[in-house]
Amino acid sequence: MGKPHVLVVPYPAQGHVIPLMELSRHLAKQGIKISFVNTEFNHKRVIHAFGKNVDDSGLLQLLSVPDGLEDGEDRNQIGKLTESLCQVMPRQLKDLIHMVNASDDDKISCVLADINLGLALDVAAELGIPTVALWPASMFQLVLNLSIPKHIAEGLIDENGKDPVLLLSGTPLMKDKMFRLSPTTPCIHPTNFLWLNIDAFPSTQKILFDFLRRNNRAVETADWVLCNSCLELEPEGFNLVPKVLPIGPLSAANRLGNLSGNFWLEDPTCMQWLDQQPPGSVIYVAFGSFTVFDQIQFQELALGLELTNRPFLWVVREDITKGRRHVYPQGFVERVGNGGKMVSWAPQGAVLEHPSIACFISHCGWNSTLEGISNGVPFLCWPYFADQFLNESYICDIWKVGLKFERGERGIIGKEEIKSKVEQLAGDDNIRTRAVELKQRVIKTVGEGGNSDKGHLDVWGVFISNYF
Ligand code: UDP
Repeated sequence: MGKPHVLVVPYPAQGHVIPLMELSRHLAKQGIKISFVNTEFNHKRVIHAFGKNVDDSGLLQLLSVPDGLEDGEDRNQIGKLTESLCQVMPRQLKDLIHMVNASDDDKISCVLADINLGLALDVAAELGIPTVALWPASMFQLVLNLSIPKHIAEGLIDENGKDPVLLLSGTPLMKDKMFRLSPTTPCIHPTNFLWLNIDAFPSTQKILFDFLRRNNRAVETADWVLCNSCLELEPEGFNLVPKVLPIGPLSAANRLGNLSGNFWLEDPTCMQWLDQQPPGSVIYVAFGSFTVFDQIQFQELALGLELTNRPFLWVVREDITKGRRHVYPQGFVERVGNGGKMVSWAPQGAVLEHPSIACFISHCGWNSTLEGISNGVPFLCWPYFADQFLNESYICDIWKVGLKFERGERGIIGKEEIKSKVEQLAGDDNIRTRAVELKQRVIKTVGEGGNSDKGHLDVWGVFISNYF
């Protein structure tokens, strides 16, 4: 008899591909065969960063399907990408499953897909293949999305996801509507609803709102639902949706090696540079895969880092600034010399584990949040969009392991604010102590017998039992 064979489908963005890859590697370690499906565009980048399309065990192969966009089109325009995915992906995935089944003795026995790409689960259900859905972000974000009908019933939003009072009278109902779902979940403002803050265009907001509602169905229809979070971080969220099994943080449960699903080549020289720095001295600065700065903010950040007079490691992606390539303030590179290191992409997991790291200036993407927490690193929070404000609230208001930056005129975080918050954090022993305590709780949950480890064992059982 052949092996259980799982087709894995992430939403095509870096922060989704990495956790799905983490889970896939975990399953491959248990002897389960994995066909990991990226869009062609991302597939090329992952292959470029990894060098081949099968991992060392031979159990994990990388496959691809088109996303429906042309070569030069901007995949960061989420509305456009989403519409295209809805149009072409179902057909493409169906064809791919038929092709794999025709050529492989081990037929696809299960589809594991990102809830953010619920259409993959619909395809599997249509073909009679069992489904596992993974939510790669916080439980709280999932609960918020699932609460859309409640928000509509309470008149907070209309059927199109908009503030109904603002539309009718120009007076925003949402203005004073900070709310929380329970005392242990973050305080949020409705303008932080995903579909409203990812893109400013009303037409895109509607596309995202509908997409999100469609994806919500996956929580009901999938045979099993998993979440890359844990009971220790979000007890309330898991209580509210008991069907969801905690299995995170995946990054703490797995050491990825060089097949991590990265879209960019990691610069390993930063690890040697970190080795030369005193313990607990380095500010690590990274904003994930999407965040884009304007030139003014970019320069202000550079000057703020310089002003701290502390060593820093700064991830400056090639596409970190709008329009033209980023420009450092005049003389900045010479002045900071070896005291500052800029790389275009870092091995972030290894960086955050390094003893020289003092704190993490982060955009608070969920993966970065989990990676910082699993390593006991305190945060300075610089959220931009999507779920990042909720994660900031978790970090600063609920877990209390970080501080928020205050924005000044035109939303800019100034160099003095950067210096001042770095100093405030450096002098705060309570935050550091809490960060270490939280790390211990999180490490325990993925360790043998911990809550998320039990979740993992259940998953493994699901894939095997499903097969036999
Ligand atoms: N990352 C990395 N190297 C970098 C910057 C980021 O490997 O230099 C990884 C990071 O470890 C995380 C992912 O990219 O796993 C970013 O995901 P996150 O959810 O934090 O942010 P997003 O990119 O989705 O905004």
